[in-house]
Amino acid sequence: MIQPSIPVRHDMWDQSLQQLDEAAGLIKLDPDVHAVLKHPKRTLEVSVPVKMDDGHVEVFQGYRVQHNQFRGPCKGGIRFHHEVSMSEVKALAMLMTWKCALMNIPFGGAKGGIVVDPSKLSTGELERLTRRFTSEISIIIGADKDIPAPDMGTNPQTMAWMMDTYSTIAGHSVPQIVTGKPITIGGSQGRNEATGRGCSYIAAAVVKAMGQADSALQPLKGMTVVVQGAGNVGSHAAKCMQALGAKIVGISDVKGGVYNTEGIDVERLFATLPPKTFVQDWCPGVKVPNDEFDILVPAALGGVITEENAGRIKAKIIVEGANGPTSPEADEILERNGVTVVPDILANAGGVTVSYFEWVQGLQWYFWELEEINKKLERVMTSAFDTLWSLSKRENVSLRKAAMMIAVGRVAEAGNSLGLFP
Ligand code: NAD
Repeated sequence: MIQPSIPVRHDMWDQSLQQLDEAAGLIKLDPDVHAVLKHPKRTLEVSVPVKMDDGHVEVFQGYRVQHNQFRGPCKGGIRFHHEVSMSEVKALAMLMTWKCALMNIPFGGAKGGIVVDPSKLSTGELERLTRRFTSEISIIIGADKDIPAPDMGTNPQTMAWMMDTYSTIAGHSVPQIVTGKPITIGGSQGRNEATGRGCSYIAAAVVKAMGQADSALQPLKGMTVVVQGAGNVGSHAAKCMQALGAKIVGISDVKGGVYNTEGIDVERLFATLPPKTFVQDWCPGVKVPNDEFDILVPAALGGVITEENAGRIKAKIIVEGANGPTSPEADEILERNGVTVVPDILANAGGVTVSYFEWVQGLQWYFWELEEINKKLERVMTSAFDTLWSLSKRENVSLRKAAMMIAVGRVAEAGNSLGLFP
């Protein structure tokens, strides 16, 4: 099982450029378009002064990066984490460009973040931090320009504060400025669990494509699953995979994990886990580090599967819930070992897909039912998977390479149609 703390984190920006270069070579990308795509369109670095509860002022570092908008307004989450850096935010913004293109959603890529450990701040401090950050980046975001969403360390409440701050500046309510907000203020049904639910649809699709699903209703029946991360993505991925028949044998968070070959009832675990408690304290299990299992879902940080640990991973399938969890060197090792890796830009795209639904509903001021949303989500995800799986088989390339070929190709096609200003 992946250890809770893995010190080596590769530079994600270099990793992203490497993946782009590789895809460019495979699709024979026009060098001029390639040169444009290597650079984010716009980067903004802000300082965020916040009055702390004891009265002193602390200054935090924040970023917003817009990578590309050939296919539509920029879209991407806001991350609160102590390891956020410009390099990471640039990489994640680029990843969003590819993800939206792969899902055929009319958005370009963006990302933002603040260097902060949110668990060390009080609710009041977090609110003041979020509001000041929003006002600092309000010069480049907008409902038809750049639409933030939650990511690591942020949640629907963070989005509500962002919406309120932006609306206060605008002088009227602008719910379309963020997605992933609470339903009472224009959020979408199903958005909170969408990323994890999407991971479960993709896991089911890959198991079916590999001819290993025995039951249509429970396509993950007989599959053993380990999930790294027990936050938004990890918890919902675990619950939705369990609902599709999988046995969740391991789950971890920042403090440690539990492993139980008999299976962990994650539905019950998350229903009873008190706030700010860690899984190991609440659900003691046995740690069995070297067991084999079927599916690994990394759903915490990026850069956790490296050349140092890839060879020890015993899973047959990896569904990348997190953004950028696997280094290019690790990818090669996993490919050699016959592990099927479903890349982040497909596996965790359920979030941005329902964010797109939320944005469309907000623009129309007309809201859809949960059942309709989940059906649409499943359709978008399985159709993207089918296209990807066929290309990967036809070209005999990994799913990640095929995904990048499709995504970069679509963005380049849009860029060619638009032409270059002036
Ligand atoms: P979150 O803050 O809700 O949860 C993160 C989880 O990871 C927590 O349980 C935390 O304890 C755990 N964690 C942190 N460090 C860890 C470590 N070293 N080992 C094990 N667990 C660790 O964040 P989230 O929204 O679930 O995002 C998780 C990942 O998914 C991120 O990479 C994010 O970019 C990606 N992602 C999120 C969304 C979304 O809709 N939230 C969408 C797409 C991708």
